[in-house]
Amino acid sequence: MLDIPEEFYPFESTEPFKECKVCGLDLSLGTTDYFVEKAVKNNIAYQVKDIVFEYAICSACAQNMQQSISKESMQNMQAFFSNQQLFMSKIQAHQQGEGEPIEELLSKCSLHNEPITEMSEYMMLGHFRGDKMIATTMPYILGGRAMDQLSEIMSNETIDEMNRFKNEYFGGPVELEDLWKGKPVFL
Ligand SMILES: [Zn+2]
Repeated sequence: MLDIPEEFYPFESTEPFKECKVCGLDLSLGTTDYFVEKAVKNNIAYQVKDIVFEYAICSACAQNMQQSISKESMQNMQAFFSNQQLFMSKIQAHQQGEGEPIEELLSKCSLHNEPITEMSEYMMLGHFRGDKMIATTMPYILGGRAMDQLSEIMSNETIDEMNRFKNEYFGGPVELEDLWKGKPVFL
């Protein structure tokens, strides 16, 4: 278990997420694993970051969500990630404790190595329990290019399903549309 990088705290908060966005479970009890996903908009010229959306979801709710994704999309995503050599080698090194330091990992796209400072949008994902990060699951960053690639391989059915989730929990502000299109799911 590692300390949670502050990037994975709620925006402008000094403490980790405390609640599952879907079922309201108290995550601070440390009884259940959870995931945090954030979509960040970055003004490249001024290096000012805005959070488009962010949430924590408990592992049970994440599993439910995954079950709503079509088999085809799931298989496509798995194939996509397993064909990303840089990504897979980073994960392997991380699991063996030989990966890059966390701050280095979180400074660039995990698939294409583009620095986050040069991207106008990206997503961050991580795996936690209570106030700790699970050491064996590599937190990762998906830049705009990776999100575009992902959205291309997902079925319309899956994208509809994700949009339903988005509308239910985030009220569907317009600025989400772009970032949500390639929403990845923890595998
Ligand atoms: Zn939940």
